[in-house]
Amino acid sequence: MAFIFIFIMGLVFGSFMSVIVFRLDVKEGIVSGRSECRKCFAKLKWHDLIPVFSFIWLKGKCRYCKDKISFIYPVMEMAVAGSFVLYSLVNGPFISSELIYGLIIIFIFLILTFFDYLFYILPDKIILTGLGTAFLYTSIFHREIILNGLFTGLGLAGFFGIIFLVSHGEWIGFGDVKLAFLVGFVLGYPLALFSIVSAVWIGAIWGMAMMARGKANLKTALPFGSFISAMAILALIFKDYVNFNFFL
Ligand SMILES: [Zn+2]
Repeated sequence: MAFIFIFIMGLVFGSFMSVIVFRLDVKEGIVSGRSECRKCFAKLKWHDLIPVFSFIWLKGKCRYCKDKISFIYPVMEMAVAGSFVLYSLVNGPFISSELIYGLIIIFIFLILTFFDYLFYILPDKIILTGLGTAFLYTSIFHREIILNGLFTGLGLAGFFGIIFLVSHGEWIGFGDVKLAFLVGFVLGYPLALFSIVSAVWIGAIWGMAMMARGKANLKTALPFGSFISAMAILALIFKDYVNFNFFL
């Protein structure tokens, strides 16, 4: 039962995430609440907005103008629901402050994953929300790991900051520097290092695969922040099972 509840909650948060990702004006905050078709602007009714099911029921088309609805919406909803269930399966089904904190942090990293993948942006608002949540939680429940988080965050952000300066922002963006601090603070050493190192590997493999298919060259920008955020999520889920000797 608990897993069904968490799955449904994940679908709802996934739907909320698509609102954030497509409507977060980087300066103004979330614009407009009510959902409407992006083509014909028809107001969508509640039964047009049920995560995943409405998409399947309407065969991926707007009920009113028959315009295609992007496949990214059900993908986002399933990504959140799937990650939430996997996190709860691996880390215990009990509703605890740790579980809720884990789900919020995973949600933040999922938003960053999709944001960077779709728009090459890592919004400050999302990173700051993540940092605020992590700082609040650790200062109440786990003061003993705050220093580890701070030093790991500063170390990784410092390292990324140097790469950013040396490459004049060509290899990574300043958003990646801020993201490195968030990952360092939330995961601490050695989990954060594992996320970053594996993200670099995945970025390299991704880039080579794109080049092999003729879709990229050495100057094509990669959504590096997506890889880091996605690996941070995996590290959070499997934190008790990662074999660090293998990676570091
Ligand atoms: Zn429409």
